[in-house]
Amino acid sequence: MQASGRTVRRWAAWWAFGLIVAMAILLSAMGRRFWCECGSWVPWSWDIWTSHNSQHLIDPYFFSHVLHGVLFFFALRLVPRWDSSTRFVIAVLLEVGWEILENSPLIIQRYRESTMAVGYTGDSIANSITDVVACALGFMFATHYSWKASIGLLLATEVLMLVTIRDSLLLNIVMLITPIPAIQQWQTG
Ligand SMILES: [Zn+2]
Repeated sequence: MQASGRTVRRWAAWWAFGLIVAMAILLSAMGRRFWCECGSWVPWSWDIWTSHNSQHLIDPYFFSHVLHGVLFFFALRLVPRWDSSTRFVIAVLLEVGWEILENSPLIIQRYRESTMAVGYTGDSIANSITDVVACALGFMFATHYSWKASIGLLLATEVLMLVTIRDSLLLNIVMLITPIPAIQQWQTG
């Protein structure tokens, strides 16, 4: 254990693994499909304007989930009595909670009404799993590199997503909370 407490211990990784398994079981109980209904086992899907989005392992939104992990790292530092391992488990728990919420009828409906995700029907279970893994990777990135590197990753990812898919973590949050018609038009136009 380093003095700075920047080490994520092995028990925390096991907790993360257990939480992901529990999430997969719960999502399955909620009736979520494990994989894209197209049946193709291609691990990625880069075109977000298709029904394959959020159904395969990796798509552009993988990278916004990496940013979740970076942001959780800094937010959880506000609780000094937790060490890095505890914070890591809490970050994964928060992300698992978000994935379950995101696949609830309430949020799916909200996405369809107020964001660019008009045809959104929720994530596949496989996609939710990689989303949580992405968050864990983001947290580890912020653990190992300086805050400047994290800010750089954050800005680069946001700009790249805006340019390539007209969506980003920030826009996603804004549109989920207060939909702006002009932005929705730009995103779908
Ligand atoms: Zn597909």
